[in-house]
Amino acid sequence: MRIGGVWLNHPGTQALCAVLGLAGHRILFVGGCVRNTLMLRPVTDIDLATDALPQVVVEVAEAAGFRVIPTGIDHGTVTVIAGGIHHEITTFRRDLETDGRHALVSFSGDLREDAARRDFTMNALYAEPSGEIVDPLGGLPDLLAHRVRFVGDPEQRIREDYLRILRFFRFHAVYGDPSQGINAEGLAACAALAEGVDGLSRERIGAEMRKLLAASNPAPALASMASTGVLRRVLPGADPRFIAPLCHLEADIAPRWQRRLAVLGGEDPGPHLRLSRQEQTEVARTKDEIGSTLSPAALGWKLGATPGADVVLARAALLETPMPPGWRSDLDRGAGSTFPISAADLMPHMQGQALGAKLKELEARWLSSDLKLTRAALLA
Ligand code: ATP
Ligand code: MG
Repeated sequence: MRIGGVWLNHPGTQALCAVLGLAGHRILFVGGCVRNTLMLRPVTDIDLATDALPQVVVEVAEAAGFRVIPTGIDHGTVTVIAGGIHHEITTFRRDLETDGRHALVSFSGDLREDAARRDFTMNALYAEPSGEIVDPLGGLPDLLAHRVRFVGDPEQRIREDYLRILRFFRFHAVYGDPSQGINAEGLAACAALAEGVDGLSRERIGAEMRKLLAASNPAPALASMASTGVLRRVLPGADPRFIAPLCHLEADIAPRWQRRLAVLGGEDPGPHLRLSRQEQTEVARTKDEIGSTLSPAALGWKLGATPGADVVLARAALLETPMPPGWRSDLDRGAGSTFPISAADLMPHMQGQALGAKLKELEARWLSSDLKLTRAALLA
């Protein structure tokens, strides 16, 4: 089987593979670029694996005039920029020791060893520079069936690196077949070892959850996370019940992890998922407005069209109500509106606190009129 693609045939990429090949080394594409091409999904980054030692990759690439960045040279990874494209080239590796978070690796000349330390069979697929697929572990049938399956024994693989629990659910959400159900052995291993999640950094948990929540339908993966006790360790109090209705309502609307996170509820996700201040505020505002009576236009004015849409969708999902008619144009109308009163309109006969209170009162009246009261009507 052979794959193709603009990224694979890029002249810079092919030139880089050619110089390593001429120097007598194996060089293969691996991971996301191979997986996504086979799944007809966009390719975002180019990872390669080679039997050349990192220092050799640096020498060969530099001698050919490519810029080299020693990204993680101690772990075997160098970045080579060829034709303006970044290539992460990692020497074949084998794990010597693992502690649930970090691995002590040694370099290997053996592709099978490199494949065996990867997490899921769909991530252990390689492609020659020609595009010919190399499948040392028989992962291709899993990939074509959208089955996320651990390489080797799931419990052992999770004990080596507990992040794999979250990657399992994330890959199921993004690449799995929701009609097929999650892999049972993998799920049982995640349930048995769920407490390992507590030892992960909150940055890494947050990064995984953002990707999981941005999947087109994360509901089955989140339900499995809840049933295995993983979800409450990630975000205490989170309840995945309303995610499926939300995804149903979203239909043709682009997914947003912030919206899904607001619908999950539970404790403030800011510290649990190490959100930025801005992200934390956005999710908190969505959660606050779910219970308010503001109309779509008022939400569009107060929050902006996109966060406003999050509230309208989240409300409909949580309250099991249909989307209000005309909600999209109302959000846009609100986002493009300006509150027609300014402090100057009330001065000089109002000042200080009284002025502030009056402005607030007029704003509330304007919002509850669906932004329809005019300046004259408000001042009258
Ligand atoms: P994406 O970049 O879209 O998240 P990816 O598959 O490229 O997907 P990366 O995190 O870039 O994911 O990792 C590249 C490859 O490295 C994976 O495809 C997998 O083979 C391997 N890998 C990454 N993280 C792990 C891990 N925690 N355990 C084992 N193998 C891993
Ligand atoms: Mg990648």
